[in-house]
Amino acid sequence: MRGLVALDRGRRDAYHRDHRAAPRQAPRTGNGKATDMSIRPWRDIHRRKSRRIMVGSVPVGGDAPITVQTMTNTLTTDAPATIRQVLACAEAGADIVRVSCPDEGSTRALREIVRESPVPIVADIHFHHRRAIEAAEAGAACLRINPGNIGKPERVREVIRAARDHGCSMRIGVNAGSLEPHLLEKYAEPCPEAMVESALEHAKILQDNDFHEFKISVKASDVFLTAAAYQALADACDHPLHLGVTEAGGLTSGGVKSAIGLGNLLWMGVGDTVRVSLSADPVEEVKIGFEILKSLNLRHRGVTIISCPSCARQGFDVIETVKALEERLAHIRTHMTLSVIGCVVNGPGEARETDIGFTGGGAGSGMVYLAGLQSHKMDNAGMLDHLVELVERKAEEIEAARAQAAAEAAAQAAE
Ligand code: SF4
Repeated sequence: MRGLVALDRGRRDAYHRDHRAAPRQAPRTGNGKATDMSIRPWRDIHRRKSRRIMVGSVPVGGDAPITVQTMTNTLTTDAPATIRQVLACAEAGADIVRVSCPDEGSTRALREIVRESPVPIVADIHFHHRRAIEAAEAGAACLRINPGNIGKPERVREVIRAARDHGCSMRIGVNAGSLEPHLLEKYAEPCPEAMVESALEHAKILQDNDFHEFKISVKASDVFLTAAAYQALADACDHPLHLGVTEAGGLTSGGVKSAIGLGNLLWMGVGDTVRVSLSADPVEEVKIGFEILKSLNLRHRGVTIISCPSCARQGFDVIETVKALEERLAHIRTHMTLSVIGCVVNGPGEARETDIGFTGGGAGSGMVYLAGLQSHKMDNAGMLDHLVELVERKAEEIEAARAQAAAEAAAQAAE
């Protein structure tokens, strides 16, 4: 499946030679651990080995967990509103948040936003090298900027110096909709080769200035173009890749498009950080980004609910119950699985594979399963509160066991 795009071999070899790309390493599972065998090989994802960079305190690339990003859509100059949105996104699970800095007022506000944010902030800059320097000085963890668009080499050096002085990494963001004129002339239209060539040209500017702390994205609104461009780029370099299908659309259509585009790439092991771009609340982008990673077993966070679509056999209102559970369990960070199944056709089987389960039965009650085993009967009327209580208790148990294991490990290390 790899290498759908035939990049010029000589160009690629030269790039590896110039920048000493790390050789491919042993296959790794979705959790980044090296592996020789697996008891469920059909679930293994062999991640492409990439360099690791830091976005503030968050590692991106290498064996680091794949991170979820989003971008605020408030006016950056309205620092309180932007901070509120950053906090909401972080609460939903965003590891990194990007903020546009189109003018000086925005980079001024950035300082306060960075100070109040619990997650690293990426400053989104287009063209203007002064904004990039101001953003680095204001505490941005990363600059999203294309060095080829900055202008004179001296300006590029100034931006790189500011990034280095303030511990900023960078992201080169190639977009099919804004490819350089010389590449459009060469390739006639946006295509994977043109996008990769653009990315490598920007990368070369940073490399020639001995700056290596950057990741790359090659986004398009077309799923096929996005996937082919990322596959080719993954083969051509070892920089961490920021995945995204750009301008994907509204919540449902954009979510599906992103799941197909990002999901396929991640399944192939390509991608170190993701952003789902939707014409919707950034919190929804974070939720969908996480669900894509959770579906591929690449990240775990909170309660994964396995539920049936319901039908005439359901012993309780499955849809309303799941809706209520999603709301009432949104605060749980600890990963666990909960099955909520309308009847015995699939209920016991699903419950066997989950931490907690409820299967509808007859006469207004159902069966509760714990750790895959039948536990006790429960009335439909009290089932919702009961399941919430069981999940909260289970989360406390898991966290307590984790804390104890960490304390024991620390004590052993101190001996
Ligand atoms: S599990 Fe039962 S209630 Fe749910 S969809 Fe299947 S048959 Fe219908």
